[in-house]
Amino acid sequence: MPDSNAQTLCKACGLCCSGHLFSWVRLNANELDKAEALGLNVIRNDPRQRGFLQPCPVWQSGVCTVYTSPDYPRSCAKYKCIVLRKLLDEEIDFHDAMNQIQETLSLIREVENLLPNASIISFREQLITHKENLEKLDKQKYTQTEKEFLQKAGELLNLYESRFGVDDFIDYEK
Ligand code: SF4
Ligand code: SF4
Repeated sequence: MPDSNAQTLCKACGLCCSGHLFSWVRLNANELDKAEALGLNVIRNDPRQRGFLQPCPVWQSGVCTVYTSPDYPRSCAKYKCIVLRKLLDEEIDFHDAMNQIQETLSLIREVENLLPNASIISFREQLITHKENLEKLDKQKYTQTEKEFLQKAGELLNLYESRFGVDDFIDYEK
């Protein structure tokens, strides 16, 4: 498979950089200063959450602008979602891979429209926070919008797991 297919897929997607799949990305201690110099929003106070925040500021027009840097984060170099891995292994063709990404993007747009306005920046944070808040309430009092949100959020989190290897509440090392 030509590499250009993988590039086209990731350019059309960007979910692992845009704050949709991850709210932050882990960094090793020796990467923190270098990542800051690259322009990433580094968090370093809590050793359990040492990394940089998403949405990633160096993801621009479908491209990672620090990809060729010697300081390109190790976690970014390691992460390949399940859809991309299947494409690279020729288990699925480009058309199939693109359909899976487009279907996920459409569902994200639908969920975005059902989220309340929130000050939290990452879509993932908004999704999880709103879901957790609703789950604390009496189900009988849900509005139609809230019911729809919970149903679509559940579908989306299933796709996150099956297509991207991302569990709903855990921030994996990318
Ligand atoms: S989530 Fe997968 S397809 Fe999308 S940009 Fe990341 S690696 Fe590429
Ligand atoms: S550094 Fe590049 S690959 Fe890593 S999250 Fe940012 S845009 Fe994505």
